[in-house]
Amino acid sequence: MKMQTPCGRFAPSPSGRMHLGNVLCALLSWLSVRSRGGKYLLRIEDLDAERCPRSYADLIEDDLRWLGIDWDEGGSAGGSQWYQSCRTNIYEKYYHFLQEKAEIYPCFCSRAALHAASAPHLSDGRVLYAGTCYELSEEEISERRRKRAPAARIHVPDETISFRDGVQGGYSEHLPTECGDFILRRSDGVFAYQLAATVDDGLMGVTEVVRGRDLLESTARQIWLHRLFGFTEPVYYHIPLLMDSDGRRLSKRDEDLDLGRLRNCFPPEQVIGALAFASGLTDRPEPISARELIPLFDWKKVPKKDLYLPKIFT
Ligand code: GLU
Repeated sequence: MKMQTPCGRFAPSPSGRMHLGNVLCALLSWLSVRSRGGKYLLRIEDLDAERCPRSYADLIEDDLRWLGIDWDEGGSAGGSQWYQSCRTNIYEKYYHFLQEKAEIYPCFCSRAALHAASAPHLSDGRVLYAGTCYELSEEEISERRRKRAPAARIHVPDETISFRDGVQGGYSEHLPTECGDFILRRSDGVFAYQLAATVDDGLMGVTEVVRGRDLLESTARQIWLHRLFGFTEPVYYHIPLLMDSDGRRLSKRDEDLDLGRLRNCFPPEQVIGALAFASGLTDRPEPISARELIPLFDWKKVPKKDLYLPKIFT
């Protein structure tokens, strides 16, 4: 049997400059396909066009080049089809397909109502949608539509989605009690990440998804959507997050650790070397290029547990 060529992707949301956590994700996803002769795509997840200006997307490309991470398709050279903000027509088509296959209903709940203290909370802090708008009658729906535009929510079936994550191991989620009905389209008409990312991974032929552990809980929803669409679901690798010395997760707010600052202080090999050591790929935090890491890469070396920021950055 012919083995399928691996196809991976980096799918950043350009709402700011890349930080070290994003670099780790780009590096590991790139190494995973490059070490097996696969194809690497760059997809810009700028659904929220206001928060994700083109200037940041361009800077991400520049930062990736500086790091020595290349891609085969996508990014600005690939044209607008690689920017989610330009793919609305495609999402629309798949949204209509879902309307035939599942139950999608208007949801008028405000953010405050959804996050009220009385709302059911899951052990990881997520709020489980209580199903409030699922019960609305036709009359109530038209009455409420006059006051505000609704979001669109999809009703999940009584099904458990189980999968084996390449880093985190076995994971399963019972859709109604551990996920709940979720948003496919926001009230301003913008399609939700869950729908867009699934459609794109399916249509782009992505065979493996590498991303932060914080997105592990999105995966059951995405696998369920993949199956509804009839796509072959990719293999998932949810990588550890980078923590600062106080055990706080790094974010785009940590400007000290964004690539704008880091590029002024370190050569790319030093950044890559520190991250390679932190993620178990090398024995010493010595400078090394992304390309030199290809033969050293093995998913078995990457730990499950979150990583502390390498010393040179603290
Ligand atoms: N766009 C998401 C982010 O930057 C990543 C989504 C994904 O990899 O599925 O956090």
